[in-house]
Amino acid sequence: MGACHDELAATFPDYRFYAIKEKWGVLAFQARPRAGEAAAEEADRLNEITEKYRAASEVVCEWCGRCGSLRMDARVERTLCDACANDMTTMRFPKQTPIV
Ligand SMILES: [Zn+2]
Repeated sequence: MGACHDELAATFPDYRFYAIKEKWGVLAFQARPRAGEAAAEEADRLNEITEKYRAASEVVCEWCGRCGSLRMDARVERTLCDACANDMTTMRFPKQTPIV
């Protein structure tokens, strides 16, 4: 579990992790406070958290949201956890499921 997930889960016990856009080397972390509508202040708080971690995206896997590091050894720079980085040596997409 990544620190970003831990902080989001602590702030929003029911938050939803939606999708990670493919942006090489940069985390694009999309989450919502909960399924369905969220109050504006909740969305703002969540954006604060995800922005903070996006700025330090080397610590969060861009595929699954777990703890990772920037991989400089691949053809393209990606921020991946060990499991995803290992998967991507043999397949196009990691088989890890994004943390929810
Ligand atoms: Zn991963």
